[in-house]
Amino acid sequence: MSGRNNFRNNLLSFYSAIFFMVGLLIITYQYNREKEYRIATLNDELYNITRIVDNYINIKSIYENGDYSLVDSLQRLLPQSNLRISIIDTSGSVLFDSFVHEYNTMENHKSRPEIIEAGRSGFGTAVRRSETTGQQYYYYSKFYERYYIRTAVVYDINVTNFLEANLSFLFVMLLFFIIVGGVLLVVTNKFGESVTRLRDFAVSITHDKPFEATFPRNELGIIGSEILDIYNNLHSAKNELAIEKEKLFNHLNALNEGVAFFSPDKKINFNNDHFIQLMNMISGDLKIFSSNFFEIPEFSDIIEFLEINTGIVTARKELPMMEYQISKDGRFFRVQCVIFNDKSFEVILSDVTKTGKNKLIKQQMTSNIAHELKTPVSSIKGYIETLMNNKDIDPKKQKYFLEKAMGQTDRLTDLINDISVLNKIEEAGATFLPEKVKIKKVVREVRENFRSAIEARNMKVEADLNENTVVKGNKSLILSIFQNLIENSVNYAGDNTIINIIVYNEDKKFYHFSFSDNGIGIPQEHLNRVFERFYRVDSGRSRKSGGTGLGLAIVKNAIILHKGEILVRNKAGGGTEFLFSLPKYQ
Ligand code: ADP
Repeated sequence: MSGRNNFRNNLLSFYSAIFFMVGLLIITYQYNREKEYRIATLNDELYNITRIVDNYINIKSIYENGDYSLVDSLQRLLPQSNLRISIIDTSGSVLFDSFVHEYNTMENHKSRPEIIEAGRSGFGTAVRRSETTGQQYYYYSKFYERYYIRTAVVYDINVTNFLEANLSFLFVMLLFFIIVGGVLLVVTNKFGESVTRLRDFAVSITHDKPFEATFPRNELGIIGSEILDIYNNLHSAKNELAIEKEKLFNHLNALNEGVAFFSPDKKINFNNDHFIQLMNMISGDLKIFSSNFFEIPEFSDIIEFLEINTGIVTARKELPMMEYQISKDGRFFRVQCVIFNDKSFEVILSDVTKTGKNKLIKQQMTSNIAHELKTPVSSIKGYIETLMNNKDIDPKKQKYFLEKAMGQTDRLTDLINDISVLNKIEEAGATFLPEKVKIKKVVREVRENFRSAIEARNMKVEADLNENTVVKGNKSLILSIFQNLIENSVNYAGDNTIINIIVYNEDKKFYHFSFSDNGIGIPQEHLNRVFERFYRVDSGRSRKSGGTGLGLAIVKNAIILHKGEILVRNKAGGGTEFLFSLPKYQ
């Protein structure tokens, strides 16, 4: 309860203070007015007496005779008792004083203030304790050509009398204030509660505590509840925002990229951990702080970009953005900068070494292709040149050279086909339309293609496959997989060998295939390289058998494209075994 009615109490004490001040002011003012009024009346009264005395002196020629005892008798006729009358000549000598018998012996009155004033402006007044009687007097003196007539009364304008006279007025004032005070009390009571609640509310929000109470149903209370509603909405919006912010920050921290947000004056507002790591890697300085970002020479391009692009307001929807790559210690980094509309900006750092590597692999691939093409092309050229230069060559030899050239042309065709299959896989990404592919049918088709080669080597294909083994994928690529595997077995396994194809396992999503032969196998040290493009175990033998070195690369890439996996191993009893998975059609 402490301070509960503070607002009302404060208002009331303030109001009382004003009441007392106004009261005091009015009383002082009234008192002064009353005093002035009384003095004016007194002056009038005393002036009249001096006139009567002067008239009397003139009528009775008292001045000429010097017999002032007549003034004494006049005074007895006047209604005012206790009135002192003095007559003073122009030189200040007292000619008569009704209170003093031996007035001839009185001191000179020339320097009395009321006399000086009367000499100057006709009449003069003064309040003074009389040296003669010891009482407080009010003196009034008037100048009449030959002398001053001075009257004096005991000075008694006392406050008690005045207060008595004004008591009724004060009562009216008090009553008025009491009524106003009462009204004020009712009004403050009405609003005090609302004000108190508002204050409690303010206190609780500054201390971040929940505020439950309701406001009274008056004007102020309604305003209070509305403020409370607005505050609650704001508060929950703030909380939601904080949650979203946290999510965003968690997300940013989980990213592989380094992200930092900068204020327009190039100060970091936020950065994730990766940002610092990548900054360290790029700068080569492990102790660098995010605040030193712009001191790193590798990022000076950003400063230039910011200088040119900050503050350019365009109608475009896209924000100004830059991107460049840095290579450092064999790694590749991408730097991106985006300027937002409020001139703050974002810097994204990413390690793109892998993609950089891919680029390298592509370059190697291109030079490999060129190298692989060179051999058949130059031999074809050789055969044709021989034929052209030796017109009379015997027809048997002619045919031999032509067959050789034809063989190399086939090899070229194979190479081009394989390269285009690989390209197709790379470009397809995940965009190809999946079809229903029946594995049994695919294997039958491939077997048919190699029938004569298989028979020539006295080989056998044992495929234990079910009609229901249906894979979801690209038919021509899946055909390529089995085509290349069978072709390899036919080319390398050796005569009288057996090819075995089975589904050794299946789970919810995949079929797991085993493709094996019982041939010569692949030497252990080459096993993990056979999937590389143009990699051959024995290049002489492989070329002779027509291999391009791309077969297993095609197999692996086609399987990866189908989200499957492949590995190769040598079988215990001899021969090669490929284990791979392909997705089920569901
Ligand atoms: P190629 O076009 O030369 O056949 P591949 O990528 O298909 O290229 O095969 C790479 C190498 O792996 C071949 O040169 C071959 O030496 C070896 N190889 C592939 N399959 C077999 C297999 N079934 N048995 C033995 N060696 C194999």
